[in-house]
Parts: sequence; C-alpha cells; structure tokens
Amino acid sequence: MTPVLVRYDDLEALVKSAFRVKKKGPLTGPMPGKEIVMDKSGSLKSKMKRMTFEDYIDHCKCSRVWGYTNSGKKIVIRYWMSKDATLEDVLEFFAHEIGHHLGKKYSNHIKEEKKAREFEVAAIVAYRLAKSVLKEKRANK
Ligand SMILES: [Zn+2]
Repeated sequence: MTPVLVRYDDLEALVKSAFRVKKKGPLTGPMPGKEIVMDKSGSLKSKMKRMTFEDYIDHCKCSRVWGYTNSGKKIVIRYWMSKDATLEDVLEFFAHEIGHHLGKKYSNHIKEEKKAREFEVAAIVAYRLAKSVLKEKRANK
C-alpha cells in the first residue's frame, strides 16, 4: 500500500475540491450538508453540525492538517498542512485517511468516520509507546 499524496498549499482550494465547489472566488456561506466535527480529546465522540465554509475552514486550520481521500482502489490522499503542524498531527491525519481504506466500509458516515478515528488513536498510542520504549532502552545502555 503506497498512497499517492497530493499536497495543497491553498487550504481553500482543497476544501473546494473536497466539496466539488466550482464557484470562483472566496469560499463563503453555508455548506451543503451537516459536517462531522470530531472530538480531538481522544474520545470517539462526534457530532453533526451545520456550518458555514468560513467556520469549516477555521476548523481545518485548527486541526493543522486537513484533507481527504478517495474511495477507489488506488489510494490518493489530498492534504494541506499548516506551518506549525507537528509529527503527531501529520501521523494522526494519515492514519485516519488510510483507516478509511482498511476494514469494513460503512455506508453510515458517522460510523465510517469513527472507524477512521480508531486508526488515528491506534497510530498515536503506538507512536508514543515506541518513543517511550526506545527512550527507556537508550537510558539503560
Ligand atoms: Zn474521515
């Protein structure tokens, strides 16, 4: 599995691409449907919320990495990341997007997002454990 990565420097252009907005100029006004706002605290809580594109873009900026993946066999991940994105932000994001391609595919949007979120959590916990045991190993040399 080697996903194809497409990096966007322009977050708004990426959001337009994700929501298939053809309109030129700034992205404003209400979004077409409700959006899932995932709880970043580590729980799998999420809620569907009506948002404007302005609020959604602010939400994406707060995540420091945002993007989406296709649903085809060949994995393509389109993403944007802020200058202050951390390794954990990037790891979480890619684990989430790859998670959409693994296991059972849910037609229920919330269930599918929760499944992808579980991959994020697994990746972060594994990363922190790996860092910790390597640090311990080096300290005991
Ligand atoms: Zn997702």
